[in-house]
Amino acid sequence: MTTADSVQSSEKMDAVDVVESARETEWVHPSFVAELFLGRVRSDLIFPFPEQGVEDRDIGDALMAKVAQFLKTHLDPEEVDRTRELPQTVIEGLRTLGCFGMKIAEDYEGLGLTQTNYNRVMALIASHCMSTAVWLSAHQSIGVPQPLKMFGTPEQKRKYLPKLAKGAISAFALTESGVGSDPAKVTTTAVLSEDGSTYLLNGEKLWCTNHAVADFIVVVAQTVPKIVAGREKKQLTAFIVERAWPGVEVAYRCDFMGIRGIQNGILRFTNVRVPKENILWEEGRGLKVALMTLNTGRLTLPASCLGAARRCMEICRRWANERVQWGAPIGQHEAIAVRLARMAANIFAMESMTTLACALVDRGETDIRLEAAMAKMFCSETTWELVNDAMQIKGGRGYETAQSLAGRGESPDPIERIMRDVRINTIFEGSSEIMRLFIAREALDPHLTLGGALFDPHADRQAKWQAARRMLKFYAWWYPRQWMPLTTAMPSLPKPLRTHYRFVQRASRRLARTLVHAMGRYGPALERRQMVLWRLVDIGTALFAMAGTCSRAARMVREQRTDRTPLLLADLFCREQRRMITAAFRHAFSRTDATARAVSRHVLEGRLRWLEDDLV
Ligand SMILES: Cc1cc2nc3c(=O)[nH]c(=O)nc-3n(C[C@H](O)[C@H](O)[C@H](O)COP(=O)(O)OP(=O)(O)OC[C@H]3O[C@@H](n4cnc5c(N)ncnc54)[C@H](O)[C@@H]3O)c2cc1C
Repeated sequence: MTTADSVQSSEKMDAVDVVESARETEWVHPSFVAELFLGRVRSDLIFPFPEQGVEDRDIGDALMAKVAQFLKTHLDPEEVDRTRELPQTVIEGLRTLGCFGMKIAEDYEGLGLTQTNYNRVMALIASHCMSTAVWLSAHQSIGVPQPLKMFGTPEQKRKYLPKLAKGAISAFALTESGVGSDPAKVTTTAVLSEDGSTYLLNGEKLWCTNHAVADFIVVVAQTVPKIVAGREKKQLTAFIVERAWPGVEVAYRCDFMGIRGIQNGILRFTNVRVPKENILWEEGRGLKVALMTLNTGRLTLPASCLGAARRCMEICRRWANERVQWGAPIGQHEAIAVRLARMAANIFAMESMTTLACALVDRGETDIRLEAAMAKMFCSETTWELVNDAMQIKGGRGYETAQSLAGRGESPDPIERIMRDVRINTIFEGSSEIMRLFIAREALDPHLTLGGALFDPHADRQAKWQAARRMLKFYAWWYPRQWMPLTTAMPSLPKPLRTHYRFVQRASRRLARTLVHAMGRYGPALERRQMVLWRLVDIGTALFAMAGTCSRAARMVREQRTDRTPLLLADLFCREQRRMITAAFRHAFSRTDATARAVSRHVLEGRLRWLEDDLV
């Protein structure tokens, strides 16, 4: 091993160490998805599909009506995109409507909305202007209110929550130039003063949304490392920092391809004095604060995706009827019809998944960290494909800006802007790759907990022996069960959905078996076989989406009776997913991965530079 290799490997160990120690290790409540990976489909957790109570729905409806009316009359999303500014009147209007305190409890003068209503409002706002949705989401899904609600002391809550509810703006600052997906390298430091009363904060945070407008910012910084088992362990700590404090400087505003109305950029901290009482939770818990905040915080993103997807659907339905080519409306040509159908089925699935995850948060009896991660990943990726379909359906007019369309008297449908706006969703608040790593880690957790020492190159012989015994005992009854005929009860479902749900139950067992086979096949190297893990995570995600979609369609059909369209949507969605799942199982351990790795090595080592010939 070269010196560079050994530095890289020790950096990697540090990174894994930091994230592992910030992991939420306990499963206090059951999780539908965690059980799914163990071959158990807990229908009791998702059937009947949770229904929003009438009173709660009325609260949401009333606010949505006001917000919709306000946005229609006061906010031109094209102007926001052009000028890169959210007009002050809009910010004031949203403040008056209580939109800055949607998730803050009424005790602290907020609206105290349920997760379900919060998401409904955010989807509505995103359907009109994604920049505005990101402003509000950075403020209250990941900004100060959410971690304060979860980890704040009563004094901190009393001091900050009422101000935030009334419209003080907040932000969340973790990312740095060298710290993207891997938070272990945080270089911003917070050093405790000699008298122990304040921390001196120094460093620079990148891409902080709301940076220039935020009053209060959650900042994650390094505090003094601890020595654990003879090794130095990095300590990350989260602080509430006020932007008005001396030493806080807005150093740069970034410019992006989409969501151009957000204020986002570099925040610099030079000897900022942060009182000790502004620590969130406690010293060394900063990354856990950030990760746990995002566990529910990232549920807002699927809502934004839904808003954008619904807008695309509306535009494409109109256009596919209106536009006549080759003697027929384009919606009647099968290639376009299929895209429209896929859009509809995918929106139904995204709604089902997100509504279900929100309802589970509101119920508070299940652990939804995996469901939220899957909803974020699935909805952001599906929306990107959906917008691509919308662009194709609108043809040249999809590629033309809304302003240009309006300039020549055509309907200013903003597909071009929506495409730019939604692209970021698979990157921020946990990129798709990091979501898959997270889900895979949690899916493997029960097995690693049992036999961790066998996969740990540093474990001693006794630990390995004990782990082997534990595993033998567990797998002796668990593994054969994954092959036995299904005896699990079937929820009440109409015809086409019964078959799909049976598929979910069977595939869940096959998924559990395949995970164990993957562990046996690769051992500790499984961590590096990302393509294998990715396929298994994608199967799990599709099974969760199918289960949620079947549950919702069944409920809708039972209640509406005459309208059978939900069945059709669920049927189409499940058929598509089953095709994907079957292929993913078949190629779970594909040899193509090795070929791809070989090619990528050639790329990285510069042996394929001839592919880059003839550049200007
Ligand atoms: C518009 C915008 C708003 C943002 N808002 C905020 C904010 O308010 N607060 C904040 O703190 N941050 C914010 N961010 C930062 C955002 O969360 C990061 O961009 C994100 O964490 C990814 O980091 P990165 O871009 O540095 O990518 P990198 O970490 O450099 O990754 C590059 C690529 O490699 C992949 N990758 C990385 N590690 C692995 C791995 N182990 N396995 C497989 N693939 C991997 C990533 O998924 C990605 O595709 C924002 C960013 C943008 C662009």
